[in-house]
Formats: sequence, structure tokens, C-alpha cells
Amino acid sequence: MRGFGATIFGEMSALAARTGAINLGQGFPDTDGPEPVLAAAKATIDEGRNQYPPARGIPDLRAAIAEHQRRFYDLRLDADRQVLVTVGATEAIAAAVLALCEPGDEVVTFEPYYDSYAATIALAGAARRTSVLRFPDFAVDEASLRAAFSPRTRLVLLNTPHNPTGKVFTRAELELIAQLAREHDAIVVTDEVYEHLTFDGAQHLPMATLPGMFERTLTISSGGKTFSTTGWKVGWLTGPEALVTACATVKQFLTYVGSGPFQPAIAAGLRLGDDFYRALAATMQEARDILTAGLVNAGLTVSRPAGTYFTIADAAALGATDGVDFCWRLPELCGVVGVPVSVFCDDKDAARTLVRFAYCKRPEVLTEAAGRLAGLG
Ligand code: PMP
Ligand code: GLN
Repeated sequence: MRGFGATIFGEMSALAARTGAINLGQGFPDTDGPEPVLAAAKATIDEGRNQYPPARGIPDLRAAIAEHQRRFYDLRLDADRQVLVTVGATEAIAAAVLALCEPGDEVVTFEPYYDSYAATIALAGAARRTSVLRFPDFAVDEASLRAAFSPRTRLVLLNTPHNPTGKVFTRAELELIAQLAREHDAIVVTDEVYEHLTFDGAQHLPMATLPGMFERTLTISSGGKTFSTTGWKVGWLTGPEALVTACATVKQFLTYVGSGPFQPAIAAGLRLGDDFYRALAATMQEARDILTAGLVNAGLTVSRPAGTYFTIADAAALGATDGVDFCWRLPELCGVVGVPVSVFCDDKDAARTLVRFAYCKRPEVLTEAAGRLAGLG
């Protein structure tokens, strides 16, 4: 793991804590999740359910995950054989990559990529092959995606809605990925942790719902983003029994099981009514609008993300020539923290002056941060 130092999220949150700057770096909400979800966790502790849960997760949570996949996507799962509860989406990604890749296998993914993808592929002894999504629209480039596939391709590691770009992959893009996966007999591991955070009518489309894809797809999500409980680390993966069993075998020796008392609480969250899910996306869309308007006002070119917690701005307009250096100096320049996008890229030039800002914060915090950035211009 030489070359993988401290994660950028840890470094930038430590920088924010040290300087007192507004932290728009690491993506976590600054308000608590829904009261029934919080109450369920407290009740489970008081009920004395504090010992190891079952290896694949408590039955009620597995049932709630299966109900959720049916309710939102019409995917029908056997909760006993096709669902595995994990320690956040992070463990699900690691279990999937470690279970399915042999040393020398190749994993196709898009860049900029979520940081754990590169590290996990390296842990498996596999190699990443990336296709670049380019600012500001981040459309899939068919030629570069085709070129990333080879006879050694074992997995496609997809993320939609996508961190850090905020892109929601279109049906046509997903069909292209599906076609290439089938042609190369590759498995798709799809990270959908922002599935309920889409805006302006954009629809999240799970890869597993495309024709012929359920059999070769592992779908990953997490309660962290949907219920504003990123610290609870309850995630899951779903898919065909053989693939889920392979991941469960690996998971036993990564963490054995996840934390018990949070599992009934996430089950309660997954069963919340449609009003909750609508309000979540609407609130985040307003937050996106406040921050993107503020960044434009500060003279920056920004992407207009259709999903997630994040927008990307080109800090070149503020005199930045290198995003990493700029982000380290930003707290002293104006009291704000962001994350340099080039750390998520192999092709550094594609993202040299780009900065990711998180908008999963209260409106007054976003307005204050945007005002501080405008003072820089
Ligand atoms: N995938 C993506 C794309 C993310 O942004 C994150 C950050 N939450 C994760 C996975 C990790 O999720 P968790 O905290 O549930 O492990
Ligand atoms: N997913 C969060 C982000 O992208 C951070 C998670 C982490 O710190 N590993 O900001």
C-alpha cells in the first residue's frame, strides 16, 4: 500500500478542524437524520440487543433491503440468499473486489473515482483501467471506455449517482457499459449510495434493472447518505446468490459482522414513506442551488450536478494553477475547505484546477461559504 497515504477526506477534515474553516470537503451532513431512525437505534440498545448479529445481517434489515429494491426498482430478491449487510458501502466494495478479482485481473472504472476504489483494487492485486469523465458535463466517452476493456477485464466498478462529479449516468450510458460488460463477460459492481439524491427530475437507474444484467451485477448501497447517518456505517450488497455468497465469505474475515444496534434502525429508515424520500431530495436540491449560485457569483465555472452531495468548480478563475495547493491554502485565503479533484484521477491534467465542494450542509452555512469564496475574486 505504499503510495496510499492518509485519505484526502481525513486530511481535509483535519485541516478544517485546525483552522476553524467551513468544511465543504468531506461529504457528511450537518443535521441529524429522521427521528424514527434515531429512536430505533436507541431502543435497540435499551432492549439489550448488543451482541453479534447474524453473519449476513439481522433478518429484518435484509427483508427491508429486499422490500426497498422491489418498491423503488421492481427488483425481486430473496432476503436470505441475495442480500448481505456490510460495514458501510466501503466494506461491500472491498468484499466484492477481493472476492471476484485474482492478481493480474483488470477492473474498469471511471475517473475521477471514489478513493477507496483505487486502494481496494490495489489490495486485490488487480489493475485499474479508467475512462475519463471530463468537466463540466462529465459525459461518457465511448472510445475511451471501449479502450479500457481487454481480455483481462474481470469487473466494471460503476458509481451512479457519481462521486465526485454529481453525474447521474443516463440510460444510454448504462446500456453501453452493460453491452461492453456482456461482450467481455465481466461482472458489474455498482455503487449506488446516492440513489435517493437526484435532482430536477433526473432518475437513478440501477444497472441490475437493465435486460440481462441482474445475473452479472452486484448492487451496493448504504444507509449513511439516505438517512444522514454516515457515522453508523451500515451498508449492503445485493445480487445473484453465487456472487453474494462469494462476498459473504470474504466479509467474514474483514469484519465478521457489522454493528448490531444500527441495523433495525436502518430497516425502519428504509420503510419510511415516500414523503421522506421526496423531502430528502428536495432539500438537497435547494442546497445544491444555494452553493452553485454562490460559486457562480464568486466567478467560478461550476458543474450543475444532477445528484449526490457534490459540485465541482474550476478554481482557475480564482488564480489557482494547482488544485491540491489551492485547497491547502483555501482556509487561510477565505476560511473554506474543499477537496482537489486531481487526487481522484490518474490523468491529473484532466482535473488540474478542479475543486469539489460538498453542499450537504444547512443553507446558512452554504451562503456564508459562498460569500467567503466571492471575497477571493
Ligand atoms: N461510495 C461512494 C461513492 C461514496 O461517496 C461513499 C462515501 N460515503 C462511500 C462509497 C462509502 O460509504 P460508507 O460510508 O457507507 O462506507
Ligand atoms: N464519501 C465521503 C466523501 O466523498 C467521505 C467518506 C470518507 O471519508 N471516506 O466525501
